[in-house]
Formats: sequence, C-alpha cells, structure tokens
Amino acid sequence: MSTLDPVISSGAELIASTLKTQGVEVIFGIVGIPVVEVAEACVSAGIRFIGFRNEQSAAYAASVYGFLSGRPGVCLSVGGPGVVHALAGLLNSKINCWPLVLLSGSCDTDQVDKGAFQELDQVEACRQYCKYAARPSSVEQIPFVIEKALRTAFYGRPGATYVDLPADFIQYPIRNKQVLESIQVPKVANPPKSMADQSNINQAVELLKNAKNPLIVIGKGAAYARAEKEIGQLVEKTKAPFLPTPMGKGVLSDTHPLCVSAARSKALKEADVVLLIGARLNWILHFGDSPRWSPNVKFIQIDIAPEELGNNKYTLPLLGDIQLVVSQLSHAIGNLPHLNSTYVSGLLDKVKVNAEKIKQSGSKGSDDAILNYQTAFSVIKNTLPEKDIVYVSEGANTMDIGRSFFDVSEPRHRLDAGTGATMGVGMGYAIGAQSYYGSSKRVVSIVGDSAFGFSAMELETAIRSKLPLLIIVINNNGIYHGLTDDEYQASQNDGTLPTTALSPETRYEMISQACGGKGWFVKNRVELAAAVKEALDAKDQTCVINVLIAPGGRSKLDFAWMQKESKARL
Ligand code: ADP
Repeated sequence: MSTLDPVISSGAELIASTLKTQGVEVIFGIVGIPVVEVAEACVSAGIRFIGFRNEQSAAYAASVYGFLSGRPGVCLSVGGPGVVHALAGLLNSKINCWPLVLLSGSCDTDQVDKGAFQELDQVEACRQYCKYAARPSSVEQIPFVIEKALRTAFYGRPGATYVDLPADFIQYPIRNKQVLESIQVPKVANPPKSMADQSNINQAVELLKNAKNPLIVIGKGAAYARAEKEIGQLVEKTKAPFLPTPMGKGVLSDTHPLCVSAARSKALKEADVVLLIGARLNWILHFGDSPRWSPNVKFIQIDIAPEELGNNKYTLPLLGDIQLVVSQLSHAIGNLPHLNSTYVSGLLDKVKVNAEKIKQSGSKGSDDAILNYQTAFSVIKNTLPEKDIVYVSEGANTMDIGRSFFDVSEPRHRLDAGTGATMGVGMGYAIGAQSYYGSSKRVVSIVGDSAFGFSAMELETAIRSKLPLLIIVINNNGIYHGLTDDEYQASQNDGTLPTTALSPETRYEMISQACGGKGWFVKNRVELAAAVKEALDAKDQTCVINVLIAPGGRSKLDFAWMQKESKARL
C-alpha cells in the first residue's frame, strides 16, 4: 500500500498525489478550466507536464509514451471539445494496443444535464474506445478509480482507459485529514505474465520442426513486450528467417543476416509455417490470405489476447506473454531438421538484389537535380549516424518508400502511422518519444508535407519543452502527389485543382524559425546533406528541414498493401 501526501488540501492535490504515488513521471495535455489546478498540483508533486496546442497531439504523445515505456502514458484535457479532440488518441491506443489513461475535467456534478460549461457525457463518449471508463462517485474514490484506470490500461492486452474529473471534485477543499488516512491505494505492480499451454507448445514445435520454409514474423507486440533477447535466442537456435512488421523493426536488427525485410513478398509467398509473434493478421499482413501468402500456409500465433487468436485465419494459439512463450518455444526446440536451405538462400539472395536496387535508386541524378523520395532518403540515411536515432515516419509515400531505406537496429526505435494508418501522429509521437528517451537519443521525424500539416503548431510545444527534434518534411506540394507551381496556378485558374493538391513550396521551416527553432529550405542533395549535418550539430534545438522534391503530378496511386494481386514490392 502506498500512502498519499499528508498535506493534501484539495481534490486537485489528491489527483496529483495519486498519480505521483503510482509512478507517473510525465503528463501530456492542455490546461483550461477546470484542470489548471490539476496540472499545477502535478508539477508541484514533481511530475513533468508537457503542454500541447491541441489535445489530439497530446493524446498521441501519451499513447506512444505508453508503447515506449511499457507503462500507461497519461493525458490531461478539459471537458467537452477537449475530450472529443483526445478521442483520437484513445482510438490510436486501442487500435495499436498501447496503454493510455485520459484524465479529463468535466462539469460540476450538480450541473449535469443543465447545459453546463463544456458539458458532455464523457464517460459514454470515451467508452467505446476504452477498456474502462468511469467517473469517481466521490472525492475519496478518486485514487481507486485512477489506480484501476492505470492498471486496466496495461494488464492483459494494453489499451486506453478514461477517468472523468468533475470540477467540484477538483476544487473540493479537503479539511478532514482522517479521510486521507483511510484511503489505502495499492501501487500498481507490473502486469503478471502467463505461459502458453504446454500441449500447444508441443504442437507448435512439431509444426516448426516439420517446416521446410518457416518464417518468423515479429510484430510491434514483440517490441512492446521487450522480448528482443528471447526472440534473438529463438532465431539463433532455429536459424529461421524473420520478417519484422513496420514497428517490429529493430527488435532484431535489420542488418541481422536472417532478416528478410527486403524480400518481403517472396517470404510471404513461400513460407509454409509462420510463427506470428505479437502481430495480427489484419490489413498489414494481408489477412493471411493468398495470393500474398501461400494457400497452404500454417500459422502459429503468440498473443496475450485470446480473442485475437483465430481472427481471419485459424492459427495454432500460443496464449501468453511473448517473453515467456518465446522462451518456452526456445527450450523445446533445437534446430529445424527440414529447413530448406534453398528457400533461405533464395530469400537472402533476393535481399541482396533488392538492397542493391534500393541503393541504386537513391544515387540517381546529379547533385543539383531536383530530389525525389529515393534520392532524398539516400542523402538523409548516409548523413545520419547509425545508432541512437529514433525514427518517426508518417505520410503515404514518405512512410512506404522510407521503410526500406532506413535500417533500424534497436527495438522501439521506429514509430509510424501504425494499425490505424493515422495521419497526424508525427509531432505527438516525436514529442512523446523525445521526452521518453531524453538526451541519449535524437528523434528524427521524416514526414510528408500533408501529414506534417495536421499538427505543425506542435513545433512550438517542442521548442518550449526544449526537445531537440529533427523534423524532415518531404514536401511534394500535396497529399500523395502534388503539382508544380505552374500546374498549380493553371489548375487554380481553370477550376481543376485536384483535391490532393496543397500550396506549392510552402515554407514549413519558417514555422520553426517563427517559434524560436531552426529551419532550412533545401532543393538538392548538397543542400540537404549540409542541412542534416548542421541540424545534428544543433544538439539542443528543434530543427525543421523542408525538403522540396519532385511533385509527382497526377500519377496513379499505387501502394503495395492495396494490391489484391500478388506483385513484388521491389
Ligand atoms: P503489427 O502492427 O506489428 O503487426 P499488431 O499491433 O497487429 O502488430 O499486433 C500486436 C499484438 O501484440 C496485439 O494483438 C497484442 O495483443 C499483442 N501483445 C501486446 N503485448 C503483448 C505481450 N506482452 N505478450 C503477447 N502479446 C502481446
């Protein structure tokens, strides 16, 4: 049992003391009536408060902080519209299975249904995105509800929870200290872990041992579970090739000799037994369907959520915590006697060929030529250090093409639009990640111009919070594809401006400069390389590099995940 601060004199201080005793170190949010007192009390209690410009980004920051830290991220907002903005973060947490607690102010309890200031039935509004949503029934009950919200967010499958904080509870003067003494709140321990049913482990081992073309898929659940050591041992023992999902990248290094990311299509098509480790058979993995996968493929799935097992395809279920279940498998398995060496060498040859193609695509054109995605990424990759960079990636082409350019060698070092394909997460993620990692890492956010526009004003948040983010905006004047200045002017004149077009050559770097950060506007390789070097040297400053690339015009949209027919990605 942990004790609350004995000098508490208000509901706001009770909330702050509860959060502090529960180990909350940082809160992302926006203050306003009635939560200013809560934020102030939290700061006085020694909790860092990062004040945003829109609750949406604050909630994204808190959700990603939950993913990175393995404990619930906390977001604070006002009621009504503040909650509605923060719903985006609740959905993001739910859909990615990341722990998040949203705390929001609400109207006085005796004003409910009277049309009170920013009144909304927030518990009801949040419920469908949350594992738990509640309003404490009294001031004394606040610590219990907060404890339950924190615990529920990261026990079992991680997700979002909500706590409603009525204004009269926040302002409530606590005079009777005996009441405080009677509140005994347990401090939430790390989640208990369970192993899989041994008979299912035996079946999985049998399947893997008989596999000719096994494949291990490492998902972001494995990154969340901090199972890098266990998965490394399993790969070492089995010598099976592995494929990380976009945020599973780095659990084992992309440069590992058995990583087949660059031969993804071939690996999916040829695998006969697939071990899914913290990855769902959703759109990202083409629902497990042929022709992307072999029609006869057999799946084994490790997941903490029983209801996930069997979604879209039958999977041999290994229900439990990834660290423990992967260890169970490792203990029971040796080498894979039927592993087809031609399958493995075929994949590794393809990896080499495709890696070379990627390299070539990045070196085309002269130094002063207008950049494209490939040439820009190639310069950025060659200029950034190999370690201690946390990548944030969002945008359609920027994220899709960028994924193959930037190798990730450490777990939880790559964040992107995720299961929700959510545009606008970038600034929130970058701020959340930089506050989690501190000065040991540099967050480099490589984002499309459209994606950046969703939350560009959070640059001011980063600068005020002294977070040295490096934001690289890949600017093609539009969503998917943009227009050149001439095309744009002509379309404006004749009324045919595509819905995907954005204003040409928008000077995004100036937003950074206007807020006190640094900014560069670059149009070719030499300028880009120089800007990245200067930004890396500006270790304490928020930097934006606005990289103008060829706009792409009215070309057809084509993303690998959209294709129903099998088609090589490279
Ligand atoms: P990806 O997008 O990388 O394919 P998903 O988000 O689809 O990954 O899947 C992650 C899965 O990991 C979820 O189904 C979640 O329940 C599961 N998961 C999260 N933490 C753990 C854990 N500690 N042990 C087992 N499974 C986990």
